[in-house]
Amino acid sequence: MSMSETSTAPRRGISSRGVVHRWSGTLIPTAKEPPAETEAPSHKLLVRAGFIRRVGAGIYNYLPLGWRVLGKISDIIREEMDAAGASEMLMPALEPIELMAQTGRDADYGDNLFRLTDRHGRVVALAPTHEEIITSMMAGGVSSYRQLPLNLYQIQTKFRDEFRPRSGLLRGREFIMKDAYSFHMSLDGPGGLNEGYDLMHQAYVNSFQRCGLDFSVVEAEAGPIGGSASHEFMVNCETGEDTILKCSSTGYAANVEKCEIGPRSASFDGDPTGDLEKVHTPDLPGIDEVGKFMKVKPANMLKSIVFERPEEQGGGWVIAVVRGDQEVNEGKVRDEADGGVALADDARAREAGFAIGYVSPRAANIVPNTIVLVDPDAATGMDVAKGKPMFWATGADEKDHHVKHFNWRREMGDALDDASKVRIASIRNAQAGDPSPRDSSAQLTEERGIEVGHIFKLGTKYSEAMGFEILDEHQERQPVIMGCYGIGVSRTMAACVEMSHDDDGIVWPAAIAPYHIIITPMKVERDGEHMRHAAEIASALADAGVDVLIDDRDERPGVKFKDADLIGIPLRLTIGDKALAEDSIEFKVRGAEGRGNLVPLSEVVDKALAAIGLE
Ligand code: ATP
Ligand code: MG
Repeated sequence: MSMSETSTAPRRGISSRGVVHRWSGTLIPTAKEPPAETEAPSHKLLVRAGFIRRVGAGIYNYLPLGWRVLGKISDIIREEMDAAGASEMLMPALEPIELMAQTGRDADYGDNLFRLTDRHGRVVALAPTHEEIITSMMAGGVSSYRQLPLNLYQIQTKFRDEFRPRSGLLRGREFIMKDAYSFHMSLDGPGGLNEGYDLMHQAYVNSFQRCGLDFSVVEAEAGPIGGSASHEFMVNCETGEDTILKCSSTGYAANVEKCEIGPRSASFDGDPTGDLEKVHTPDLPGIDEVGKFMKVKPANMLKSIVFERPEEQGGGWVIAVVRGDQEVNEGKVRDEADGGVALADDARAREAGFAIGYVSPRAANIVPNTIVLVDPDAATGMDVAKGKPMFWATGADEKDHHVKHFNWRREMGDALDDASKVRIASIRNAQAGDPSPRDSSAQLTEERGIEVGHIFKLGTKYSEAMGFEILDEHQERQPVIMGCYGIGVSRTMAACVEMSHDDDGIVWPAAIAPYHIIITPMKVERDGEHMRHAAEIASALADAGVDVLIDDRDERPGVKFKDADLIGIPLRLTIGDKALAEDSIEFKVRGAEGRGNLVPLSEVVDKALAAIGLE
């Protein structure tokens, strides 16, 4: 799918004149070594190549090169958003806390929300996202269904006091986001949310393709923003923080937080492997340590996590039981427990009678109003592979103790047949090798990714909370239906570097490279022959829409070549006496093996455009 098939937006660069900059006239502070305590390749390279500089934890300067890349990414996004019918605007970063309080997100965001107090003692937040500001603006200004649908977006700085800002721009505390919000009167049909969502989906695919990214679109959990459906756009990259599961037979792909698992069999029945045996296991921090101490594999342990239901929703407890080597999925527990439950507060759970850290399914016999949800892999009485009864160890429901030889039938009895007490439910994270939810004969595979975009169908969560209602064509008041759509612009720049670099430095896709071409004259006297050719070629290239950097520093060629590779410009043109004697200059594509090849001066512009894919 080429950009021209998917977008009507004009293409930047080719329709407008490119720029010509001189290295000595801008700031590109390259460094041989990465700063101490940097791990992510994008963090190291963006600092070493002079794109960003750290100001404080999770706070960065965008230097000229970095800002040029961010500008190019932003331009691509703008064109695609505009082509999809959205309009750009700008909202403030300062947000009166009362606005966030209207939806309860002042509390939901917790410590991630930056708050400050003004001179009059009023509290304002530094906006982490803008649902409340835009919904309140729309409620004040839009009153007729005839004004909808609308999609408004901005590209702006966001603030989140991340617990662990790290990896440079991948997780900053101040970062650039494109956020869009759409407003509709209906879900389906022309102008409805589903149509608007699909348009954004396509605009995101177009944007990330044009940026030259290798990415996957995956089903995602709606998360703290809330809502009913959502997709994430993940740059495929081993160093990514997110786990993605894919089914190659159907194309299904989902974030691990969301990924369903195909049908699995389960049966509690099986004879005990021995009498319950209590083991003293003090001061062991986690299941792996307990397992080692007891000489039991985590796959033979039952992990029991306690959830609570708030009093307003009837109160009570849920014990989620998974195999010790697997992870409980909170969203799945919430869905299976009919909503409302959250991880239990330790103190309250202890007070109710749970020996937190040592809980087993048997705690349901001790604490009233408790149901047990058991994942199929934990709901096994027989070890099918070995053809013998399943050996289980688990908590002893007593501080500092575990038990061996737990047997579901013996320990839980009739409760196993009473769905109001014990239920088998798929409540763990999916993992590689699980049956695909779309084709149970296929297995899921696991990959890593970096979330660069996220689109949500919000529904009426914000419009209802903020009283944004409109008279529909039947003169009935309806809460407006919303969608929201984010792209991490600064994270996208870093994700691109994670995805595309080599031992020598960054390898930018031409579409978002700070400059398309770097011209490296060997001799840099102001009016010398090399500089004259450099200026002429640069000007002709700029006319064709190409951005050019001339490395006019009086440095050794080796230093200049190394720096050109480090900052990752797609094409290097070298001007030297030997090639000029043949009326040629040397072409070298970034990342290509071996020496460059000679190109006649008369063909430089055409060949250069072809080499960077801008013919
Ligand atoms: P994450 O799960 O990585 O914390 P999120 O799901 O909280 O991100 P959203 O609220 O969906 O983020 O924000 C939209 C986009 O903004 C994300 O897809 C991501 O690209 C970007 N983003 C979010 N948090 C940060 C951050 N701390 N630094 C840089 N970019 C971020
Ligand atoms: Mg997200």
